[in-house]
Amino acid sequence: MNNPLLENSTLPQFSKIKAKHIKPAINALLAEARKTVEQQLQATSKYTWENLIDPIENVEDKLNKAWSPVSHMNSVVNTDELRDAYNACLPKLSEYSTEMGQNKALFNAYQQIANSDEYSLLDIAQQKIISNALRDFRLSGIDLDTEKQQRYKEISQELSRLSSKYEENLLDATNAWSKLITNVEILSGLPETALSLAKQTAESHDKEGWMISLQFPSYMAVMTYAENRELRQEHYTAFATRASELGSNEKWDNSQIMEQTLALRHEKAQLLGFNNYAELSLATKMANKPEDVMHFLEDLADKSWRHARKDLSELQAFAKQYYNISQLQAWDMGYFSEKMRQHYFQLSQEEVKAYFPVTRVIPGLFSVVEKLYGLKISEITNFDSWHPDARFFQIKDESDQLRGQFYLDLYAREKKRGGAWMDDCVGRKKPADSIQIPVAYLTCNFTPPTGNDPALLTHDEVLTLFHEFGHGLQHMLTQIDYLSVSGINGVEWDAVELPSQFMENWCWEKESLELISGHYQTGEKLPDDLYKKMLQAKNFQAGMIMVRQLEFSLFDFTIHQQYDPSKGGQIYNTLNRIRDQVAVVQPPEFNRFAHSFAHIFSGGYAAGYYSYKWAEVLSSDAYSLFEEKGIFDQTTGKAFLHKILEKGGSQEAMKLFIDFRGRVPNIDALLRHNGIAA
Ligand SMILES: [Zn+2]
Repeated sequence: MNNPLLENSTLPQFSKIKAKHIKPAINALLAEARKTVEQQLQATSKYTWENLIDPIENVEDKLNKAWSPVSHMNSVVNTDELRDAYNACLPKLSEYSTEMGQNKALFNAYQQIANSDEYSLLDIAQQKIISNALRDFRLSGIDLDTEKQQRYKEISQELSRLSSKYEENLLDATNAWSKLITNVEILSGLPETALSLAKQTAESHDKEGWMISLQFPSYMAVMTYAENRELRQEHYTAFATRASELGSNEKWDNSQIMEQTLALRHEKAQLLGFNNYAELSLATKMANKPEDVMHFLEDLADKSWRHARKDLSELQAFAKQYYNISQLQAWDMGYFSEKMRQHYFQLSQEEVKAYFPVTRVIPGLFSVVEKLYGLKISEITNFDSWHPDARFFQIKDESDQLRGQFYLDLYAREKKRGGAWMDDCVGRKKPADSIQIPVAYLTCNFTPPTGNDPALLTHDEVLTLFHEFGHGLQHMLTQIDYLSVSGINGVEWDAVELPSQFMENWCWEKESLELISGHYQTGEKLPDDLYKKMLQAKNFQAGMIMVRQLEFSLFDFTIHQQYDPSKGGQIYNTLNRIRDQVAVVQPPEFNRFAHSFAHIFSGGYAAGYYSYKWAEVLSSDAYSLFEEKGIFDQTTGKAFLHKILEKGGSQEAMKLFIDFRGRVPNIDALLRHNGIAA
């Protein structure tokens, strides 16, 4: 059978790819990959980059290039057939990677290259690929004895079972609670959209009236807008006790799962020679040791606490003055914060949107990066696509070299996954003859245009677009010739958000706003008073938001770092201790936050939640150099391009940052950008 996924085309042939092609292609490519590894291992006993790593990178590149359009189409033009084929391949891919991670002969071959005379002749990117690979073999338990390796496998399987059980309990507990309301006055304060959601929810349960639930949009709407204080209290209580011993059904209680998870993570870390799971987590991150993370978080907390305290007392004063509430409860915070925001800023999203038509924002975004990095971006209209909405662009540099290409798929539609993301379609690498040019997908879910008007973006959507484009630039502008560390590949988890958050800064500067905004009917530029209101609203309650994130980060890191098998998880003792230290708002005794903290118990953020703030420090600090030199300063722009964006994961993020900034990162710029004085 002709299979477009197996033909060697420069760009995916989306229009020809059908569900029936997927399994045969992935099976064939996985078989080829396995065969290549075996053949190369057996062909010689003296391993080199050329006879081992290069062939493996090539065959895995073929696999990536076939899988990438499949996974992309599954996300943006989903059908039942596509989804089935996609899901059927997932376990095969993960089996392949586990198998490689535990292949002793392969590990020995990498080790041999690392110890050989050739190693010092390889370039930095190649050396980094080898050291990353050796690290990952070790983290897969490769040099443990058979008995320990067996235990390692058991722990890994049990952890993955616990993680999905945690998630299931949370989901079931969330779905189990609802409240039917037949008198709409009880819901007064809720906006039209929230009311119609509640009505729809009731209808889907064959009920008359309005139904609220623990789904986030419903919960958020009640917490933010419902005037009825008892309703807020009831809803808050249900939400805050989900999946705990205080929740609606003990079969969804996550308590035991959390205890077991922490114990097994600790055991796994110790098997691999670490003192605790926090150390294991940092083995693949930019932060070196647990003390660095703790100091970082405590320092930020120290500097933000006073500001957070002030945010809270302003809120308390506001509630007292206008609503005569003297004791704010946990279920009042969101409600009065929203009242206060409306009272002081009166910022209408609708008004702002009129100045951000997509027809202005997209060319404006391109002008910003053209000015910053000396690039040229042009649209190509003749290309193979998955949907008529998709557009295709090329990026060339000053010497007219093609540097990267990207697809842009902006609008929400049925069968397209929500949210916004950048994904890699083709990665840069250098085969024998010519360079493989990187290709990215930039996907958003903006409201499509209606009638003859262009789509209008909220300022948040503009930020999202810049954010994803920042990820895209790191992927596309890389000059690294080896796949595993080119572009976003191999970049440490806590540094990945640097280029993306960095780009967001240009959405707040007057000089760049002139490039990206203009009234969709009159072309009139963003009025000064509107701009001023946007800036004021930007940092509303920034102190409270900051210490809350720090509370989560410190809690996550501490329970993993200080785990003591003789004492067990100490989950709420630790959380309470940290709250005493950094929080300005103390939730009620019955709050069971950790029972639904899925990021760390079932996501990838265990002992890594701090990454959000860590990367924000990097992006703010990098941007502060532009504030010093001018936000369109060409020299600084080129420095960022050459020293950060082009380098990908070829060197440690800290080294690259110091190269660019001339010193280690510091938190002052982040505090300043949040309106929190350092
Ligand atoms: Zn991001």
